[in-house]
Amino acid sequence: MTVWCFGSINIDHFYALPHLPVPGETLAATTVRAELGGKGANQSVAAARAGARVRHLGAVGPDGARALAGLAGYGVLCEGVQQVETPTGHAVIMVDPLGENAIIIDAGANRAIALAPVLAALEHAALGDILLLQNETAFQVEVARAAMGLGMEVIYSAAPFEVEAVRAVLPFVNTLVVNAVEAAQLLAALNTPFEDLPVETVVVTRGAEGASWHARGTPDICVPALPTQVVDTTGAGDCFTGVLAAALSMDASPEDAMHFAAAAAAMQVSRPGTAAAMPTRAEIEALINERR
Ligand code: ATP
Repeated sequence: MTVWCFGSINIDHFYALPHLPVPGETLAATTVRAELGGKGANQSVAAARAGARVRHLGAVGPDGARALAGLAGYGVLCEGVQQVETPTGHAVIMVDPLGENAIIIDAGANRAIALAPVLAALEHAALGDILLLQNETAFQVEVARAAMGLGMEVIYSAAPFEVEAVRAVLPFVNTLVVNAVEAAQLLAALNTPFEDLPVETVVVTRGAEGASWHARGTPDICVPALPTQVVDTTGAGDCFTGVLAAALSMDASPEDAMHFAAAAAAMQVSRPGTAAAMPTRAEIEALINERR
């Protein structure tokens, strides 16, 4: 099975600063680096590194060659990435010496994506293929609806959380993945108990407290987080979701997929960076065997 990831592609520009700027201040950065980012790209990379066949559906601008090369370099198939006139999405991430940050995001090409080529690409999906999507592009509802109509399994990572966007996509979702904060926001906004969320399966991630799988009619599956030396938790949720989708696409049971994702995420938080920190399938399997 293939994981089709419809999602954002960004270039993240990191600026290390002596302190975060105050209004009117001009600051010189001490170091600067640029990396592939965006929740969609991160999840595609996580899934591909974990061993899945991954096709990314998204958009970059005229400046997107480097981002595309980055994705392809991690083994993600990029024929479904459109080139549009709007510049590639980017984030400016200012970081002070204590690790505190301030972030500016420009969605850029992610919001200028054309719907028709995405729908045309999905026509090539096989029954049971997975569509993975998040909240950083245009047309989530249309793409999720089409995928469900084609008999795909739709896994929706409801982040960044925006209640109206989530409410609109939910009818076309099989598996919803949220962190604990997003879960609480969603239940409050819909004024509904957890069991009545209108999806078959809800996965809740809880940082160092692990994650749980709740599916109608089957016992809950709770997996602990694997103890690790934490270096950088950025992208832990994207790692977990991408690897979960990868494992399910390779016919793992929900329980095995949850353990596989938790092991991957523990490894990811023990390394610096986001996409670059996503572990390979061999690394994840080695960690699981080591902790048995
Ligand atoms: P982020 O926004 O930082 O990408 P998130 O809030 O979406 O993350 P979390 O619930 O924080 O997601 O983390 C996802 C998963 O990563 C957890 O369920 C857990 O398996 C793993 N994880 C996160 N933090 C740790 C940790 N300190 N130690 C081990 N595993 C962790």
